[in-house]
Amino acid sequence: MTDGIRVALVTGANKGIGLEIARQLAQAGVRVIIGARDDGRARAAVDDLASQGLVAHSVRLDLDDEDSITDAAATIAAEHGRLDILVNNAGIFDTADGPPGTASLAAVRRVMETNFLGTLAVTQAMLPLLRAAPAGRIVNLSSSLGSLTLNGDPASPYYSQRFIGYNASKAALNMLTIQLHEALRDTPIVVNSVSPGFVKTDLTGYGTMTPEEGARLPVRHALGGDESGQWFGPAGETPW
Ligand code: NAP
Repeated sequence: MTDGIRVALVTGANKGIGLEIARQLAQAGVRVIIGARDDGRARAAVDDLASQGLVAHSVRLDLDDEDSITDAAATIAAEHGRLDILVNNAGIFDTADGPPGTASLAAVRRVMETNFLGTLAVTQAMLPLLRAAPAGRIVNLSSSLGSLTLNGDPASPYYSQRFIGYNASKAALNMLTIQLHEALRDTPIVVNSVSPGFVKTDLTGYGTMTPEEGARLPVRHALGGDESGQWFGPAGETPW
């Protein structure tokens, strides 16, 4: 499609913060593609948005399945021709994760596989489509738990949250943000990490914000702002 409407892919958009990011992007007039690993859950999300008069597309996308990622990129290329916005939202937390001395290695591997390697694979597959857009934008959903600085600061509320797998996966995601920003310096593509805040979803089970509130900052950076290679959180710039 060559009309001026921006096209966005949101990974893990069938629930939680991702679904609200998809909703708010659709409300802003963006053509939204819901990435979900389960067709039924994808359909439910599309129907949910449709009940509010919002049109959304969907594509099967499992971060742990490289073929699904390649197929999703081919589908988006065929149906939309480009990608203006990629929101790398999909992610997991594993209850067998924990402090470095005792965390389940299998859990750490699962979390790194999805949150970092899966996101890297999606980003690589979507880059040609982002390059085909006039001003591509990548938003990586990070977490303050991924801050090396805050993990080493006893005064930080995140200091006691020792999840070696999850925290390292978000620190690695931040590395992707910085390296990609540097690699894309000569292009109009903008790439940033954004922390949504502490949001009550299935991932956390509790939190101080609703998914709707948690979606606002990622959406703001998906839609605008020229800064690139930065990390934004509800309190402003976050220390790496
Ligand atoms: P959530 O409600 O559990 O939603 C996670 C989404 O990711 C779901 O749609 C899930 O799909 C999808 N997903 C998980 N593994 C996937 C895979 N292998 N392939 C494709 N999709 C997959 O969690 P959330 O709280 O909204 O989290 C969204 C993002 O924000 C995550 O990256 C998380 O780390 C980050 N974050 C959250 C908070 C918070 O306070 N909630 C704070 C900081 C950062 P299924 O339904 O199929 O499982």
